[in-house]
Amino acid sequence: MFSGSRKARKLPNDGPGNAWYETLPPPPPARVVNGTVRADFAVIGAGTCGCAVARRLAELRPDDRIVLVEATRVGYGTSGRNAGFMLDHHSHGGMKHMEAAAKNDRLFAAGTAYLRNLVAEHQIQCDWSDWGRIYVAAEDTTQSALQGVADGFDRLGVPWQPVDRDGMEEITGTRFYRHGVRAEGSALVQPAAMMRGLAATLPMNVTLFEDSPVLELATRGGLRLVCPEGVIEADQVILANHVFAEELGFLKHRIVPLATFASLTRPLNEVEKAQVGSEGEFGLLPANANGSTVRLTRDGRILMRNTLHYARAKHFPPELMAEVAGNHRHSIAGRWPGLADVEFAGTWGGILGFTRNEGTVFGAIGPGLWAVMTADAAPMTKGAISGKLLAEHICGLDSELLGVLLSLPKAALMPPDPILRFLVNREIGKAAATGPGER
Ligand SMILES: Cc1cc2nc3c(=O)[nH]c(=O)nc-3n(C[C@H](O)[C@H](O)[C@H](O)COP(=O)(O)OP(=O)(O)OC[C@H]3O[C@@H](n4cnc5c(N)ncnc54)[C@H](O)[C@@H]3O)c2cc1C
Repeated sequence: MFSGSRKARKLPNDGPGNAWYETLPPPPPARVVNGTVRADFAVIGAGTCGCAVARRLAELRPDDRIVLVEATRVGYGTSGRNAGFMLDHHSHGGMKHMEAAAKNDRLFAAGTAYLRNLVAEHQIQCDWSDWGRIYVAAEDTTQSALQGVADGFDRLGVPWQPVDRDGMEEITGTRFYRHGVRAEGSALVQPAAMMRGLAATLPMNVTLFEDSPVLELATRGGLRLVCPEGVIEADQVILANHVFAEELGFLKHRIVPLATFASLTRPLNEVEKAQVGSEGEFGLLPANANGSTVRLTRDGRILMRNTLHYARAKHFPPELMAEVAGNHRHSIAGRWPGLADVEFAGTWGGILGFTRNEGTVFGAIGPGLWAVMTADAAPMTKGAISGKLLAEHICGLDSELLGVLLSLPKAALMPPDPILRFLVNREIGKAAATGPGER
């Protein structure tokens, strides 16, 4: 059991280049933790999980003071630097345990509905689009992975339609893709704008502090979060700081930190737009793990996401970013040769979490201490609903959906490095070998 003090060994260091964030107007100056701040609840991390926990706690405990403390700025971290797919259902060929997959799928759907309602209710300007998504395969050799997606949807009872090569060309303007599985319902968003909007519309009894990394979590004389210029004293603390929980000494060996990378182009001009299909936007998810997530955004930009990297170091050196930008340029040229030289507004990295068993990190981890983390498939929507449900769990509000989440297996222990590094790199290598032309 935890007692004493734990210092953060590493702090978020995602680096610049998050074009979603950087193309938004600059935010107002951050409110920084200064002096001593008192709170009933302190939530560490203002991503999809942390914002949802803070919001729901504030709704359920209107007389309590909730503090949400973020190391950087809202929208700058992973929840604001993803590909923007808010998935209500997800399928992949590796789904072995259908009972667990079906439970997870309910959480994805509930998370999407939750976010959709918040965005509508607060009129959050984040280019929310119900276009859906197409899972794609570019090679005949990866057709079996796409078949796995289709079979998974069948077993989950999610409707889908096949798209052939001509159909893919009509939608995307390229014959790069041979097959697609189209499913409707999921949303596409500008993730940094969505996160900023969610944080800006938190209830009045939530105080958001940014640029305030928690350097230390101490229990002497109550729970204390030490920040560079002040201290938060709280009755209860919720860790929603994703893969950085282990850097504060919690939840070690439960989550694999895996980096992936994206580039966003400048808006295409009219001549360039004529090359990218007829629907004005699209969102493509690769059936093979080596493949690329690709979007045409509503404002006419191409998003290209690919390249996986074991990310225990949790930062991205310039030579890696240069290699990634080269990968993205190559991927765009392979699909649309006429767009090979379109400038990038930014290239960035971020870290996803994966468990060994598609398990959960959710609930009490010590006296007055709670944790929620989103990992594996559909993490944005799963994280939003998990955060909401954690607040309800803390406040003793039971529901069928909370029962579903609690019935999922806990994230299983994983081996330490260098074994884990070896195993992860082997999996990345396998994906590259089975789908060499997918990227
Ligand atoms: C390129 C890319 C594309 C992706 N695409 C998708 C997608 O399309 N759909 C999808 O569902 N998911 C996607 N993901 C994954 C998804 O973005 C993450 O799984 C999700 O954002 C995790 O949410 P979170 O709230 O758990 O963590 P985060 O968003 O990482 O939030 C945790 C916050 O905690 C803060 N923090 C950490 N340590 C401290 C500390 N000591 N003190 C204070 N604050 C701290 C961090 O700064 C961070 O803002 C993608 C990820 C990447 C990198």
